[in-house]
Amino acid sequence: MSRLEKKLLSAVARASADFRLLEPNDRVMVCVSGGKDSHALLYLLREIARRAPFPLSLVAVNLDQGQPNFPKHVLPEYFEREGYEYRVVTEDTYSIVVDKVPEGKTYCSLCSRLRRGILYNVAQELSATKIALGHHRDDVIETLLLNLLYSGQMKSMPARLRSDDGRNVVIRPLVYCTEPDLAAFATEREFPIIPCDLCGSQENLQRKRVKKLLDQLHADNPNVRGNLFNALANIRASHLYDVALREALGVDEAHEDAPSEQERPEAPLLRLGGRVG
Ligand code: SF4
Repeated sequence: MSRLEKKLLSAVARASADFRLLEPNDRVMVCVSGGKDSHALLYLLREIARRAPFPLSLVAVNLDQGQPNFPKHVLPEYFEREGYEYRVVTEDTYSIVVDKVPEGKTYCSLCSRLRRGILYNVAQELSATKIALGHHRDDVIETLLLNLLYSGQMKSMPARLRSDDGRNVVIRPLVYCTEPDLAAFATEREFPIIPCDLCGSQENLQRKRVKKLLDQLHADNPNVRGNLFNALANIRASHLYDVALREALGVDEAHEDAPSEQERPEAPLLRLGGRVG
């Protein structure tokens, strides 16, 4: 096993432990679009399932949305070769999206809503206890910034989510994995990647801007993405303005941050020449 694979497996195991993503007797429906992230997700979950101290099963699901030139044979052949249980679902959401979305607008929002509805139903048909999606650390960071900048909300993508209708639990086991690691892993394992631009939709403009901003900040300070992600696990409610949250946590007033070693002033008595009073 390569060092990269070990690193990714331990990140998935840590996320699972932190957020109760994988539990005894889970039957996890793994959504595989054919991109690098979902391929890595399926592979890593199989490795985790082989090592788990409890029964855990997977079923790979690919949704063929009727995009032009979608290579229908690629994923079934791969799933067969690798011995995965799988289901390919064909629903032409592409025609609906092209018909409904005004020209010049991106398809993604309607496309994802339609996809989500279909996948939720498929999970029920397959008696899946969880639906696993391939979003990773960099998706989480971009979503945080998108929400901060364009929706006025401090939130990102949850690692574990109960669907609105209460029927499904959606999990994101790759939230501690970085996109560059997943890209390198996809190359290392030679996954049969299906390009993600078959639908011809432009990437959401705001997301594009946020990615560019992060790249620019990263050029000055390579820790920026890691810091943003760490901030999601290091929240000071007392220094924020969400009154309901403060009340729920019993936060009344903020306390000053303890000064760091460098910031700590000399003891006043020494500065006053040792005189008291
Ligand atoms: S990129 Fe294409 S397939 Fe993906 S969500 Fe957007 S419209 Fe749908």
